[in-house]
Amino acid sequence: MKKYDYDLIVIGAGSGGVRASRLSASYGAKVAIIEESRFGGTCVIRGCVPKKILVYGSLFASHFDDAKGFGWSITSASHDWESLILAKDKELNRLENIYINMLKNAGVDLITGKAVVRDSNKVEVEGRTYSAEKILVAVGGKPFVPDFPGKEFIITSNEALDLKSCPKNIIIVGGGYIALEFAGIFNSLGAKVEIILRSNKVLSGFDHDIRNTITSELEKRGVSIYNDQAIKSLKEDKSGKLKLDLGETILTSDKVMFATGRTPNTLKLGIKEVGVGLNKKGAVIVDDVNCSSIKSIFAIGDVTDRINLTPVAINEGRVFAERFFNNNPITLDYNNIASAVFSQPQIATVGLTEEQARINFEVNVFISRFNPMKNTISGRNEPTMMKIVVDKNTDKVLGCHMVGDDAAEIIQGFAIALKCGATKKQFDETVGIHPTSAEEFVTMREIKSQ
Ligand code: NDP
Repeated sequence: MKKYDYDLIVIGAGSGGVRASRLSASYGAKVAIIEESRFGGTCVIRGCVPKKILVYGSLFASHFDDAKGFGWSITSASHDWESLILAKDKELNRLENIYINMLKNAGVDLITGKAVVRDSNKVEVEGRTYSAEKILVAVGGKPFVPDFPGKEFIITSNEALDLKSCPKNIIIVGGGYIALEFAGIFNSLGAKVEIILRSNKVLSGFDHDIRNTITSELEKRGVSIYNDQAIKSLKEDKSGKLKLDLGETILTSDKVMFATGRTPNTLKLGIKEVGVGLNKKGAVIVDDVNCSSIKSIFAIGDVTDRINLTPVAINEGRVFAERFFNNNPITLDYNNIASAVFSQPQIATVGLTEEQARINFEVNVFISRFNPMKNTISGRNEPTMMKIVVDKNTDKVLGCHMVGDDAAEIIQGFAIALKCGATKKQFDETVGIHPTSAEEFVTMREIKSQ
């Protein structure tokens, strides 16, 4: 008789947990997955997917504008927020069902309810205990909101995806991925958007040319950015308007959204109590095989707060299943992982920023700013910015950065080049596709003077 009910219990049916369960089951493991909310997790239910649907929906506003230059006359375009939200919800239901069916077809047992880890091999769900040789924690994270008077009036990305109507004005606190993506959505749908930063620029950690370009493009689109602000309080007046006190200024708005980072979902999970080591943010500390301080408990994805991106969690799930259930001890290379911000205009990046590269390398920097062909006819004043950072000594390309249409689609390809260690000479020898914006990445010749 088997010592445990399962070979593997996965807690959390998001992107990482689902990949780990399905793959482990396909290699013959007996697997259960526990989910307290909806199958699909942050990416499918509360993140990437619904956000991108709203981005697509909002982008039509600029498409209608641009169309005029090409001879279209659009007399009255209006947007119905409710229809967009309904369409989004329908798609999420479809995807959730696909996730559930994929798990069932893989032979994974689905358990719904709140999981609490009781010891190194036991998990309790609503009064029933299940045992497993290995427990994989893949519970993700949730929005972090700092404490301040009036915190109860704010919304986060969770609620922003399900608003009953599109706000006429919205204040967004934070200047990271989520803040800029929602600023783009609401701005394009006609809302007045104000961004509040505690620092002096959006997108900390990104290349400075990206940060400067997106700042001026957001401002051109009418988004106001308030730098170096500290939030004193938030109050609701009799008419339901919100008043955000920034000390010297009081801003009034229909909605105040916080996009001030995310925090690992480890509270009340029982793992701390059984001895799993957590860092100051509450993230599970894992070694290079995703093992926690308890040798039967592992963690992947946002709950480990390493690189908090869906494809990273998926690959961590894959690597986990390969190593422990397919006798294939592979590891994940965390270098040169590309990412995109679906702001308007879009941002994508792979490799080192100029600032990071200058710490250890002598660098050559190539920058191109140009008006894409479509804009010359539409009249849109929105230049694209592309940048390449190169190691002067080896000619290796260390980073590619872009702000402009299709940045994410373009940078994905260049991520492969960086993974292969491509040199600037090889970029130069690559024949471009004309007429595209992407060809600019293989035709930049002039080194930027410092
Ligand atoms: P980010 O870490 O990207 O940005 C957080 C922002 O909030 C920063 O501007 C930060 O300021 C600010 N901030 C943090 N704490 C406070 C505070 N106490 N008071 C005021 N401002 C504060 O977090 P997000 O919430 O935007 O996104 C979380 C993560 O989710 C991202 O880092 C990313 O990994 C992932 N994500 C990825 C997406 C994608 O791939 N397209 C989309 C959405 C999310 P400062 O700059 O000063 O630190």
